[in-house]
Amino acid sequence: MRDPTSFLQKEYLELVEKTLDWRLKELQGASEPVTLVDGRKVLVLCANNYLGLTTHPKLKKAAMEAIEKYGVGSGAVRAISGNMDIHIELEERLAKFKNAEASLTYPTGFMVNSGLIPQLVGRGDLIVSDELNHGSIIDGVRLSKAEKAVYKHNDVENLAKVLEKSEKDEPNRILIITDGVFSMDGDLAPLDKIVKYGKKHGAMIYVDDAHGEGVLGKGGRGIVSHFDLTHNDVQVEMGTFSKAYGTIGGHVSGSESLVKFAYNKSWTWLLSSSHPPAIVAATIAAIDVLENEPEHVENLWKNTNFFKKAMIDLGFNTGNSQTPIIPIIVGESHKAKSLADKLYEQGVYVVPIVFPMVARDLSRIRVQMHAKLTIEQLDSVINKIEKIGKELEII
Ligand code: PMP
Repeated sequence: MRDPTSFLQKEYLELVEKTLDWRLKELQGASEPVTLVDGRKVLVLCANNYLGLTTHPKLKKAAMEAIEKYGVGSGAVRAISGNMDIHIELEERLAKFKNAEASLTYPTGFMVNSGLIPQLVGRGDLIVSDELNHGSIIDGVRLSKAEKAVYKHNDVENLAKVLEKSEKDEPNRILIITDGVFSMDGDLAPLDKIVKYGKKHGAMIYVDDAHGEGVLGKGGRGIVSHFDLTHNDVQVEMGTFSKAYGTIGGHVSGSESLVKFAYNKSWTWLLSSSHPPAIVAATIAAIDVLENEPEHVENLWKNTNFFKKAMIDLGFNTGNSQTPIIPIIVGESHKAKSLADKLYEQGVYVVPIVFPMVARDLSRIRVQMHAKLTIEQLDSVINKIEKIGKELEII
């Protein structure tokens, strides 16, 4: 007789046995550089809240005022009766900020990638994807009926070869897709070069700038601005408000025709309800803050450069990090886990990243910098990493 659900416990226990299960920690306060986690006060170095905007007074005020005016929910999907004036205002503000003709917001970034990629390319087309792209891109690619090709991470020579080879099959459209900032290594896609090779083949370029916006480019405008490119070069600039902007929501910026195509065709947009007004208003306030308070992005980079230099001076391997994502690569997984555990015991919260998220010999802890950390706090973290690093014979 078939047992409908015994696989649930069996497969979970298999993960536990391999220590591949997630053991969730409980945050008992706001996402701040110092907060309560499982009852202990810790310094948090593993949040995507790079600029500290989750608790910025202007965002909180905007959210509360929007609740007073509009209530807590939007009541429907955008295409029915959930398209409020503030949803439109947010998209207009974002397009202006991104120097794009138009922008469109989705409930989450994952939903942009999983809902839009399969519409941009289908049967007879080709997707060319960096081997280390984010899981939401991988899912979007899987959902497409297009042919798929993968190029070696950030290797434009290999990208060129893959494109040349694929031309033999005479694909109709070609989409090249890459993360802007790679979330495990903190390195940047060579977007200018990708654009150059893409143009040779008439390819459309799609960048997922989840970790680059609010961080890179003029005033945090993101990777397209960082490389001085336009939306004629990078036709699809995708991002999320869930990181540096401090709220939640995916978005895409480019031409007016991209936006009209996207909202008419993406099921994840058409069939999922629109953002609650508080989130929309807080996100508009986040754009205001980025435009008028440059100190947050400046502090983030000051802290990033200070911390990274200290790690390199101590002899740690920070890989190819070019951003506030700073991996400390230690090799074997047990070392990464011990380093994270010991730091946690001493009040510093970072996560170990081990196989299968990265190669077995490239286990690491991943530090994510924060604009509101003080130099004293960073010094105390650096001292602790140095001491434990020596104990574990990492340095
Ligand atoms: N792309 C990348 C590169 C990401 O890191 C993330 C978030 N982990 C997403 C997409 C998904 O964004 P969201 O949290 O808005 O779903």
